[in-house]
Amino acid sequence: MSLFLEVVPVSEAIEAVRRIAPPTGCEDVPLEDALHRVLARDVCADIDIPGFDRSTVDGYAVAAAETTGAGEAIPAMLQCRGRVGMGSADAGSVSRGSCKYVPTGGALPEGADAVVMIEHAEQIGDDVLVHRPVAPGENVVFRGEDFRAGKVVLERGRVLSPRDIGVAAAVGADRVSVVTAPRIGIISTGNELVPVAGAPGPGEVRDANSYLAGAFVTERGCHPVYFGIVRDERAVLERAVSSALDRCDAVLVSGGSSKDERDNTAAVIADLGEVLVHGIALAPGKPTIIGTARGKPVIGLPGHPASAFVVLVAIVDHLLAAMRETSVSRRTIRARLTQNVPSTRGREDYIRVSVRDGEATPVFGKSGLLNTLVQSEGLVRIPASSEGFEVSEEVEVILW
Ligand code: AMP
Ligand code: MG
Repeated sequence: MSLFLEVVPVSEAIEAVRRIAPPTGCEDVPLEDALHRVLARDVCADIDIPGFDRSTVDGYAVAAAETTGAGEAIPAMLQCRGRVGMGSADAGSVSRGSCKYVPTGGALPEGADAVVMIEHAEQIGDDVLVHRPVAPGENVVFRGEDFRAGKVVLERGRVLSPRDIGVAAAVGADRVSVVTAPRIGIISTGNELVPVAGAPGPGEVRDANSYLAGAFVTERGCHPVYFGIVRDERAVLERAVSSALDRCDAVLVSGGSSKDERDNTAAVIADLGEVLVHGIALAPGKPTIIGTARGKPVIGLPGHPASAFVVLVAIVDHLLAAMRETSVSRRTIRARLTQNVPSTRGREDYIRVSVRDGEATPVFGKSGLLNTLVQSEGLVRIPASSEGFEVSEEVEVILW
């Protein structure tokens, strides 16, 4: 076995994780549990929304033609025939020369096709003086104008946002069919690792990666399943990966992903299945492993939390999206670099940057420093074909 990693381009690594992503099926869940889940079936409007012509303002329901030519000097005068009650099935009607008060959201009476805003009218006893004309349809939402019965409102594959949940509720979807949330096993390896609750002794560090990876997969609508800290021993790691495979749809192992004699992850994946990629032309994040075992993806992440996070963003995100039958969605902004950022051709570099007032400042730190993760707002990706970006160049920042 070679002492060096045989790196593949990032694009190839992404293709590999997409290829091995197992489908996870779908399930029906109550709407209140559907946030961040991926729709497995379209949500359609069960009825016309709104179900009746309704006013968008507080005012007087009228036949628009009755207000033609109305102005401050010569108002149109109409007789008020009472009020429309909210939620009432019968809004009544307006005939020639009359109007009816209607609150916002109230049903339009028969014979009316517009609403005069209360600010543009004056009521004196039963008479209403209209100071401005309205056009047919003004201040009215017509039946079915929002969504027609049977029409697709939310398409399958969509990751449900709080806005989507509200709209689904309005069209009667009290349960929705969503892609089953993949269960992602999380293992940290390293003899130096201790649980976060304890104080690390000399040479020891706290296990940050279990939490980092767990939070990352949770944010992407997956269930993390924690298998704790495993020592750098092949047999022990093999048992841990094996039990993670029993219970999960994919496994993330952090640490031990390179080719040091203590690094067991690749050997363990090879024992249980197959290593497809060992080394990605990515910085940070080169010592990354992509493999499968029992038909499930097993990913080896580098141990440095900052490197592990870049691999989660650049590679694992695509695996999780493929397993959830959706695409990676990223929030990005454009910003100008405040300094030159050199890069090596042939390798995709991810530079942490802080962003202020449209300017992106690289947060360079010694490799392994955690503070760069909290002092930055996102990553600038420098493609493998580039030798870097120059000061003042506009770049895309992938926000964390
Ligand atoms: P490795 O990839 O195992 O060579 O680890 C690289 C560096 O990351 C070492 O300094 C490890 O101590 C550190 N490291 C590995 N795993 C973790 C973890 N779960 N949490 C925090 N640091 C880690
Ligand atoms: Mg290690």
